[in-house]
Amino acid sequence: MKAIRVHQHGGAEVLRYEDVPVPSPGPGEALVKIEAAGVNFIDIYFRQGLYKSALPIILGQEAAGMVEAVGAGVSDVKAGDRVAYAGTLGAYAQYAAAPAARLVKLPGGIDARSAAAAMLQGMTAHYLATATFPLGPGHTALVHAAAGGVGLLLIQMAKMRGARVFGTVSTEEKARLAREAGADEAILYTSQDFQAETMRLTGGKGVDVVYDSVAKTTWEKSLHSLRPRGMLVLYGNASGAAPAIDPLLLSQRGSLFLTRPKLGDYTATREELLQRAGDVLGWVASGKLKLRIEHVYPLEQAAEAQQALEGRRTTGKVLLIP
Ligand code: NDP
Repeated sequence: MKAIRVHQHGGAEVLRYEDVPVPSPGPGEALVKIEAAGVNFIDIYFRQGLYKSALPIILGQEAAGMVEAVGAGVSDVKAGDRVAYAGTLGAYAQYAAAPAARLVKLPGGIDARSAAAAMLQGMTAHYLATATFPLGPGHTALVHAAAGGVGLLLIQMAKMRGARVFGTVSTEEKARLAREAGADEAILYTSQDFQAETMRLTGGKGVDVVYDSVAKTTWEKSLHSLRPRGMLVLYGNASGAAPAIDPLLLSQRGSLFLTRPKLGDYTATREELLQRAGDVLGWVASGKLKLRIEHVYPLEQAAEAQQALEGRRTTGKVLLIP
C-alpha cells in the first residue's frame, strides 16, 4: 500500500510517499481501509520532533473508512462496518491497523470525508467547551485561531451553550468566517492588540476563559485578558510552545487557573469516546454543527497540505484522500 512516512524530523520535505506492507491487525485491532484522513497540527509536531515517536513513522492521527478485517478478541466492530477514529498514528495511508476500542461506528448520513473532518477537531472542541471549562450563558470566551479547524467548531459549540465568543484571526477573510460560525466579535490579532480589544469589549473586566492553541506569541496576553479567577486553556502550540510559567504569575494576575489539556485524557474510556463522538457526529448529521472542508489533497500531496496548514493558508479542515 501507499503511505506517507517520516524517517527523520524536519520540514515538510521529509515526508516520503512510499510503498509499505499492508498492516495485519493484531489482537484487539481492526484493519481499516482508509477513505479520508484528517490533517491536524499535531501531525506537524510529530514531523518536527516536538512530540516524540520512534522513527520511521506513518504520520496521521485521524481517519474514516471501512473495516476490512479484525484481529483476535475484537467484538466492538466487524468487517464491513463504516468507522472513524482519532488519536492513533498511521492514518496517512491506504490502510491502518487501529485499536478496535478506539473506533466509532458512523451513523447514517455521515460520509467518510465528514467523519474524518469531525473526529479529532470536533471532539477537541467538545471537551474544551463542555469539560475543561464548561461554558454556559453569562460566560465570555476568547478563542484564538478562530477560523482554523478546531476554532470554527469551538465557536459553534460555545454559541450552542449560550456563551459570548470573541475570536482572533489573522485576516479579514478569516474574520468573516469566524463571524459566520457565530463569533460575536472577531479580532485581527496580527494588526490589533487583542488584550486591549478584549478588555475594551468586556468593559475592563476580562473574559472567563481563553482557549489558546497558538501559545508562544499569545500566551502572555491571553493571561492578561482574563478576569480574576479566569482560566487559560493552553491546548496547542501553533506558533511554538509556551515557556515555563511561574505559578506566582497566576496569583499576581488574580488567582488564575492554567491547564494544558489533551484529547486522549478526555476520551480515556470507551464510554467517554462514544459520548463525545456521538454528540459531534450527531450534530453534523442533523446540520446543527457545520463543517468547512475546503482543502482536500490526494495522499501523495501530504507535504503541500501540511505546508498550507502551517503557513496559515487554510481555514476549517484539511483532508488527504488515499
Ligand atoms: P488550525 O486549522 O487551527 O491551524 C492553525 C492556525 O493557528 C492557523 O490557521 C493560524 O490561524 C494560527 N496561527 C497563529 N500563529 C501561527 C503560526 N505562527 N504558525 C501557524 N499557525 C499559526 O489547526 P488545527 O485545528 O489542526 O489545530 C489547532 C490547534 O489546536 C493546534 O495548536 C493543535 O495542536 C491544537 N490541538 C490540540 C488538541 C488537544 O487536545 N490539546 C487537539 C487538537 C488540536 P490565523 O492565521 O488566523 O492566525
